[in-house]
Amino acid sequence: MYLDLDLHFSDGVSQAFHSISSASSSPQVLTFSVHHAAPGFFPISEHSGLSDPSSPSFDPFVLSLPLERGASNATFARVWPIIDRVKNAFRPDYVVVQCGVDGLAGDPYATWNWSLGAGDGNLGWYIDNICRWGCKTLLLGGGEELNVELILLSVKADIEVIGGYNSPNVARAWTYFTSIAVKQSSICMRSTTLMVRMVAQLDHPLSLEADIPDHSAFPLYAPSFILDVPPGNTQDQNTAEYLQHAENVFAQITETIRDRVGTPEARA
Ligand SMILES: [Zn+2]
Repeated sequence: MYLDLDLHFSDGVSQAFHSISSASSSPQVLTFSVHHAAPGFFPISEHSGLSDPSSPSFDPFVLSLPLERGASNATFARVWPIIDRVKNAFRPDYVVVQCGVDGLAGDPYATWNWSLGAGDGNLGWYIDNICRWGCKTLLLGGGEELNVELILLSVKADIEVIGGYNSPNVARAWTYFTSIAVKQSSICMRSTTLMVRMVAQLDHPLSLEADIPDHSAFPLYAPSFILDVPPGNTQDQNTAEYLQHAENVFAQITETIRDRVGTPEARA
């Protein structure tokens, strides 16, 4: 299962796996993109709208859930059960999470209003929930200044150049995600990065109130100089009606996936 939480639609991956020719079979891969979509917003794709089971091009294993501007922790908390039910229906062995952090408050895109902490639905809460699924998990994402790798017994975090354009916040986010992922695993480190080696020695997630340590980039972390990326004041434009509609659509899709995948015995 490929789960894309980046602000932008997973156009290349979705296109690569999209198929309407195998209506009765169960593909090996399910892709699910949660993103922002609007006229003129990159990338333009025929697949970036809300998945529509009535469409001739519908593929229940290439899923799309666009969210409006200002998407907040409250909206993501409501979206989470949709993702969780899709995962339970598909029953993946492996989960690849594209976790670009350009949806965080403070990113130059200034589109969503996601935060690292501050209540259910935050991005750290998502990473924690995903790691608790118990699947072998690959976390992708990060920003242009990070290139670190963790090899964990059940969680691998490979941080590359994808999504997240406020570099201090990207570093904050991936430090926090690493501390969450490490908590979920016995680890075998293969990283040359001091930050990751230090985080891996923790036996619990970092506190979001943790001070940023003094280093050459320290001034970039002003004015808070702590780990947290709090929400901003952007109004959440995702209405209860839209989210209810999305829940209804995905309830139908989840049943389709369950029918196609079959029971554990049949799948084996
Ligand atoms: Zn992005």
